[in-house]
Amino acid sequence: MWFRRDLRLGDNPALLAAAADGAEVVPLFVVDPTFATAGTPRRALLHDCLVALDTSLRETGGIGLVIRHGDPGDVVPAIADELDATSVVVSRDYAPYGRRRDAGVADSLADHDRTLRGVGSPYAVDPGQVRKGDGDTYSVFTPFSKVWRRTGWQHPHPAPGDDVRWVGAGSTGVVSDPLGERPVAGCTLPEAGEGAALDRWRRFIDTSGASDGSSRSAVAAYDDLRDRPDLTGTSRLSPDLKWGTVHPRTLLADLDASGSGEEGHTVFSSELAWRDFYADVLFRQPHSAWENLNPKLDTIEVDTGKQGEEKFARWCAGNTGFGIVDAGMRQLLATGWMHNRVRMITASFLVKDLHLPWQWGARWFMDHLVDGDLASNNHGWQWAAGTGTDAAPYFRVFNPTLQQERYDPDGAYVERWVEDPSEPMLDHRVERTEALRRLKAVTGR
Ligand SMILES: Cc1cc2nc3c(=O)[nH]c(=O)nc-3n(C[C@H](O)[C@H](O)[C@H](O)COP(=O)(O)OP(=O)(O)OC[C@H]3O[C@@H](n4cnc5c(N)ncnc54)[C@H](O)[C@@H]3O)c2cc1C
Repeated sequence: MWFRRDLRLGDNPALLAAAADGAEVVPLFVVDPTFATAGTPRRALLHDCLVALDTSLRETGGIGLVIRHGDPGDVVPAIADELDATSVVVSRDYAPYGRRRDAGVADSLADHDRTLRGVGSPYAVDPGQVRKGDGDTYSVFTPFSKVWRRTGWQHPHPAPGDDVRWVGAGSTGVVSDPLGERPVAGCTLPEAGEGAALDRWRRFIDTSGASDGSSRSAVAAYDDLRDRPDLTGTSRLSPDLKWGTVHPRTLLADLDASGSGEEGHTVFSSELAWRDFYADVLFRQPHSAWENLNPKLDTIEVDTGKQGEEKFARWCAGNTGFGIVDAGMRQLLATGWMHNRVRMITASFLVKDLHLPWQWGARWFMDHLVDGDLASNNHGWQWAAGTGTDAAPYFRVFNPTLQQERYDPDGAYVERWVEDPSEPMLDHRVERTEALRRLKAVTGR
């Protein structure tokens, strides 16, 4: 069992498949050198998730996680040879790098009559599965989400039983490399691992958990509070979903996701549908990771010179003089997380007030977010830039001051993160007009 983005024992169909028919199971994680290019908060959290998985394995199976360092294309076939494994079981990866990596590993294994078996994925509905009647796929969220709901998902799978024949770190003849030093995150990380993820979820669905003091659960109040960065209105499960310490199926099973139940439940499950939607778009159009989904905007004028870099530096540091933008950017640096509404506001500001390429902001987010995920992040950015799926047209420009008044009505969020407010670096009305001028130059509208 080669773990990647499914760092849990419960509700893990790949693990059950590996253990089926009394087969011996070696729990493997490969520390890929390409991880070094990922942001340190994300790598630090991965480290913590691996420690938690190792602990769970020792408690459940009496053995530890087998760690190997190196290119998975070499390491996985080598350990399969060493242990004479018949197959390597994984939860399928649908992102561009993972698909290339897995194709290479599958070929190398096949040379020795071994198989790479993909079972399940990190999504409620696997990318590529939500289709129109004629088999075509969706490029717009609303129709996608309706079919996504109708397609449905499996019930959660049980955790592996006591009868699994584990072979791992601590077993005779199985060598595990040390995990290595934990990267210095530079920010406060959430508690990691399957147990912590399930605790977070239970607190979110518990009755009387809502942060507005009402007697509702946080999930029941989600529809009302999810846009308020000053309150704790969202689940904070994105890092768990990123590393698979919890599967969306587990969450959906606890909700009335049919669409007929409580509004908060339906809206929350729609957010999980957005996650599946972006994974689906990236799967079908891998180039959209870093290129505009809408090529019409490829030639829009952006500021990339020295002046652009100076503006970018102020945005990164949270020194734009717009309270909610600066609060968000500082929350990101301090915690590795930013509220969704504020991600939208800061992204819009970078693209439409500063006229910078969305890719600069997307890269900064990937480097600093603890939940950084190529599909959700880069398509979130394309949504904000108006270059992606159709939800936010380019001519819709967020006014940061009005957004702040609306979503942080008492100013508590901005006050929490910005102690030294500065003068606004620009006039939003002027930059809005400029953004629309640049748009008209390429679209004629
Ligand atoms: C510019 C931008 C960048 C983003 N980058 C990322 C990223 O790197 N990783 C990431 O997981 N999410 C990203 N998002 C989506 C969203 O902001 C986060 O998932 C959310 O803020 C995480 O907090 P939560 O777990 O409390 O969310 P909740 O509101 O509790 O939502 C539950 C789950 O639904 C999913 N979800 C919610 N909103 C979205 C969305 N708009 N798109 C896709 N999935 C969603 C997430 O998995 C989230 O954990 C981005 C959004 C924008 C606008």
